[in-house]
Amino acid sequence: RISAQDLRKINRIKVTGSDPPDPISSFSDLLSRYAVKPFLKQNLQKHNFSTPTPVQMQAIPILLEGRDLMTCAPTGTGKTLAFLVPLLQELMGHKKVGYRAVILSPTRELAKQVMNTASVNLTLKIHNEIKWLSEGRNFKICMLTKATASTQAHDPTARANYDIIVSTPLRLVHELKQGHIKLDSVRHFIFDEADKLFELSFLEQIDEILAACTCQKLQKAMFSATLPSEVERMAKTLMKDPIRVIIGTKDA
Ligand code: ADP
Ligand code: MG
Repeated sequence: RISAQDLRKINRIKVTGSDPPDPISSFSDLLSRYAVKPFLKQNLQKHNFSTPTPVQMQAIPILLEGRDLMTCAPTGTGKTLAFLVPLLQELMGHKKVGYRAVILSPTRELAKQVMNTASVNLTLKIHNEIKWLSEGRNFKICMLTKATASTQAHDPTARANYDIIVSTPLRLVHELKQGHIKLDSVRHFIFDEADKLFELSFLEQIDEILAACTCQKLQKAMFSATLPSEVERMAKTLMKDPIRVIIGTKDA
């Protein structure tokens, strides 16, 4: 059996922080080490995901152990599943208690200004991955973007029954201000493309959203393709004893 140290070395996984758990070498490790729910294993298998990517190997056990995490791994290396697998495991299934998880991602608003169309539907992409990974469980997911604002997002009463919200910072702040959304049951907070969230001065919005997450136990995780020191500094102020995972090099 390969040692944790070798597994990290081969996969160019660099970890800093106190007491990080060993990486997993296969998705089966999740069953033996963390008693991961069969629906997750089955859905991964069904979609031919046989081996975790390096970021998944290390990030999944860290999140399953309830730790805060900042992660830097190149685009296209599977960061979405790295946060969705532990998230769906923790949430188990639908509960009628309101939102238990926030996934914050930059998209449409800034896509117009600075990015090409490839990134326009980031929240939709996350939504789709939750859909197939949670097949068999009736999670209720709310997606908030400009594009969805006129559909599901406009029914505040229905939204009281959602489990997960995927949103851009501006949309979510807007809904909070309208009093349409409550985040006091949120236990898991994910910043996707964190470098862009923080660099593009969404700080004010992020503060407002975090202030609405009043639950004492709030796990925070950040995922991005780069980790500028300014972003890392801000991340540290928001997190509790975080573990930092870098795949490859920080500025790739
Ligand atoms: P990132 O967020 O790091 O840019 P994504 O999460 O969007 O990357 O994943 C990129 C692609 O890789 C997606 O099509 C996803 O389905 C695929 N992928 C993710 N994890 C695995 C895996 N363990 N094995 C094979 N393909 C994977
Ligand atoms: Mg991504």
